[in-house]
Amino acid sequence: MSPALTVLKDVFGYHAFRGRQAEIIEHVAEGGDCLVLMPTGGGKSLCYQIPALLRQRAGHGVGIVVSPLIALMQDQVAALTEAGVRAAVLNSTLTGAEASAVERDLLAGRLEILYVAPERLMTPRFQDLLDRTRVGLFAIDEAHCVSQWGHDFRPEYIQLSVLHERFPQVPRIALTATADALTRQEIVERLALDDARVFLSSFDRPNIRYRIVEKDNARQQLLAFIKAEHMAADGTHDSGIVYCLSRRKVDETAEWLRGHGINALAYHAGMDAAVRQQRQARFRDEDGVVMVATIAFGMGIDKPDVRFVAHLDLPKSMEGYYQETGRAGRDGLPANAWMAYGLGDVVQQKRMIDESEADEAHKRVSSAKLDALLGLCETAGCRRVRILAYFGESSEPCGNCDTCLEPPATWDGTREAQMALSCVYRTAQASRVHFGATHLIDVLRGNATEKIRQWGHDKVSTFGIGADRSVAEWHAIFRQLIAHGLLVIDHGGHGALLLGESARAVLKGETSITLRRQVTKPGRATERGSRGARVDHAAQMDEGQLACWEALRRWRSATAKEHGVPAYVIFHDATLAELARSVPQTLEEMAEVPGIGAAKLERYGEEILEVLQRA
Ligand code: ADP
Ligand code: ZN
Repeated sequence: MSPALTVLKDVFGYHAFRGRQAEIIEHVAEGGDCLVLMPTGGGKSLCYQIPALLRQRAGHGVGIVVSPLIALMQDQVAALTEAGVRAAVLNSTLTGAEASAVERDLLAGRLEILYVAPERLMTPRFQDLLDRTRVGLFAIDEAHCVSQWGHDFRPEYIQLSVLHERFPQVPRIALTATADALTRQEIVERLALDDARVFLSSFDRPNIRYRIVEKDNARQQLLAFIKAEHMAADGTHDSGIVYCLSRRKVDETAEWLRGHGINALAYHAGMDAAVRQQRQARFRDEDGVVMVATIAFGMGIDKPDVRFVAHLDLPKSMEGYYQETGRAGRDGLPANAWMAYGLGDVVQQKRMIDESEADEAHKRVSSAKLDALLGLCETAGCRRVRILAYFGESSEPCGNCDTCLEPPATWDGTREAQMALSCVYRTAQASRVHFGATHLIDVLRGNATEKIRQWGHDKVSTFGIGADRSVAEWHAIFRQLIAHGLLVIDHGGHGALLLGESARAVLKGETSITLRRQVTKPGRATERGSRGARVDHAAQMDEGQLACWEALRRWRSATAKEHGVPAYVIFHDATLAELARSVPQTLEEMAEVPGIGAAKLERYGEEILEVLQRA
């Protein structure tokens, strides 16, 4: 067995590497630099933790991990300590005495892995410590934070290039889940990684099922979704995240869900830091909490058993959507990414772009990013193919998204497209201003509102020509026309629609338009949905196993409390489920269960045998 595999098994209790982990670990352990691009949940941590251990044990010194996320560092150190690794953290949460103790351990060569906040790393004091320490490797986590264009820019990250100048012989591994080529290039330049090997993994997250539904009554739809797929018969439910755009909507949605039997918490930047921290801790430590949040929540959440991520509002971009949905199912078990979206969302996002302080170039980029996401929402093809294509990866239809499971019917919408486009044209011609979809739909349906009479739009030739279609149908048509670029939302306007470049050909009858038929009712994709893993674990067990599972969960809760760590730091659900299923009788048998390394076996093995016997 290779030394890396031995560490994987002994320390982490896993039996095989995932994806490119083995290659990466070997490369870094031998002293090579590299940039690792891997999706959230892909298993980046092991890519530096194992080389750090290997190099430390070979006498090269401690592995220094730079991470911007305080909560995440603490979790990682807790998990490593549980696994028997000598790990520590240096960041602003420590008292002076605690920090001194860590520094002493560092100088004495007692540490295997040290997590450091970037601002700490660059202080003269820490640089001086480094000069007096043997360093085996530098890992730079969340490396996209060097990108000034990105959403997580951290000025301190720019200075990390100094590491290479000061310690040219120490290998560096930079890691990120942000995939686009521009960010990648910026990381390479700013961190002086020109000679580093790049390990690009597929960004697919096959265990996540993508689903985008037309907004009808979004809250009710959300509740129905949670009940159908993430709630057990006894009313307990999985952990999940619900994203909303505004703070107010976050508060209201959380309260509403609580009124409907969901253990929901609200989280946004308008709250007291202490309250936020406490809620984040509850989400992390307790089973079955649904966090309703703005995007302020998420960075640094590496809870592995988040079973669903739901969007009640459209994110800004495909990057945002993928990052947010990526927080589901890090443990590799089935998870759902669910979104309800409507025309209003598009208009709202466009307005936010227009009203932002950004310059024109930036606004254009933002608009293009929104358009790409819109394309995803309206596609009749596989969602995953579309997402991966956006990140430069080609793939085959996945069989695990709504459009694959339930291919949407399409129809020839050429005539309706012509009606809508010419209505845009006629009303603008008559009034010299442009109008939004609501008004245009009123015109098409022959709904003589006051506004219509005021503008004289009951006189235009398109008045009433689309009366045979409902408002909802027209909404769907307009959305798709926007997604196809036939209609463009006006800059600075209030959702006013202009004709896109390709509209002309449609109006002239030169091109035909295929539209997807809308489904608002949950269909097969929901019924056959990926039941939450927690619910699933239980569903597949017989009574005896179920008793073990419950007993193990109680034991885990108590142990986690006692140690002051999240439950999943003790064991993941998957490990508990396997224990309940296989009921090992001896420590040797237990060692075969994935997720139980040597340290945990020694620490908990006997206790678990007892728990299983008593159950
Ligand atoms: P990332 O940082 O890329 O988002 P993590 O390093 O947090 O991902 O890993 C995601 C999850 O996958 C963790 O719970 C981790 O324990 C698990 N994991 C990683 N590598 C393996 C492996 N080779 N075998 C089993 N589980 C793994
Ligand atoms: Zn698919």
